[in-house]
Amino acid sequence: MNKFRTLDDVDVKGKRALLRVDLNVPAEDGRITDSTRIERVAPTITEIAGKGGKVILLSHFGRPKGRDPKESLKPVAAALSQIIGRPVAFADDCIGEPAEAAVAAMKDGDILCLENTRFHKEEEKNDPAFVAALARLGDIWINDAFSAAHRAHASTEGLGHRLPAYAGRTMQAELDALGKALEAPTKPVIAVIGGAKVSTKIDLLENLVTKVDALVIGGGMANTFLHAQGVNVGKSLAEKDLAATALRILEKAEASNCAIILPVDAVVAFQFAANSPSHAYGLDAIPAEGMILDVGPRSIARIHAAIDDAATLVWNGPLGAFEIAPFDRGTVQAARHAAERTKAKKLISVAGGGDTVAALNQAGVAGDFTYVSTAGGAFLEWMEGKPLPGVEVLKVK
Ligand code: AMP
Repeated sequence: MNKFRTLDDVDVKGKRALLRVDLNVPAEDGRITDSTRIERVAPTITEIAGKGGKVILLSHFGRPKGRDPKESLKPVAAALSQIIGRPVAFADDCIGEPAEAAVAAMKDGDILCLENTRFHKEEEKNDPAFVAALARLGDIWINDAFSAAHRAHASTEGLGHRLPAYAGRTMQAELDALGKALEAPTKPVIAVIGGAKVSTKIDLLENLVTKVDALVIGGGMANTFLHAQGVNVGKSLAEKDLAATALRILEKAEASNCAIILPVDAVVAFQFAANSPSHAYGLDAIPAEGMILDVGPRSIARIHAAIDDAATLVWNGPLGAFEIAPFDRGTVQAARHAAERTKAKKLISVAGGGDTVAALNQAGVAGDFTYVSTAGGAFLEWMEGKPLPGVEVLKVK
């Protein structure tokens, strides 16, 4: 990865720092239900303010079509103020008179949150006049929103061409962790990929087989691979029309010397419901009326052994229908094993994606992984090997 500038490369004192953060927190009826995203960016905010910079926060919130009070960032700014224990001013618009007046009133070390950037349709169009209106408010631009870095929007990318650009601390930590996982990893590298469908992860699988030494395929998507290999998967979720794609991925893996680890047994139930009776079967004996809902015990043992052989692990997607007991067992056991290896300093483990974070939390091990990315789309695009516009613009050319 090319080098990128960070807060270590700029003296923020007295400067107006436009700080792009991801304050798109889950909320119900104006109440914030999970403030993880606010907590993640709090250190960058307090560092810049502590060094005498003027912190001007930019973020999107929801998917408003034009100005919509239900998707105002005002309550989020209040929650941020509570979390960091300092006043956070608020401006009713992110450009124009309200924003300019609020910025002009700032003293060194002050924090100001501007209204939802997506109240302007020009944000998502990366419109040059809108970028210019934002750029007037700042001396420098700091991007601390990795989770929005796969979008080339005005506040996530456009500003980086208009103002000196730096990575915030959250972005820096994310890029460092991801770099260690795939760009310059300690070998051998193993990827664990699960989830419902192959169709949403074709690019990701195709990229990974060229980069990693071993690839574990689990979850519903493994059924598509097993079907392509002639296994009768009964009534399991499987994308049978993608058999040729699955075989192509297996061939590419062989050509790239990537070992593919597919399930060798499966936990099968006859109903997709919590605690429905289930049994483990070998692949030659999956009942015609049954559904594969998790990897079986012999598969788990193989996955553990493969993790033991690896120095670096990248994980996305559950190995089974982890939301319903007991079909979380494969995911939970493999996650706990990876966490133990990480704690024993034998493994660098990086995981990401919405369901993956939920699964690791369920296993009680999210804190034991080397790094867990809460970015959904951006994490997947990074795993697909695609350049992320909001990261590219930070690189030192
Ligand atoms: P994804 O969003 O692609 O990572 O998929 C996650 C979803 O895949 C979760 O909701 C799991 O319940 C589901 N899933 C994983 N394995 C299976 C399976 N064997 N059968 C049905 N759904 C599964």
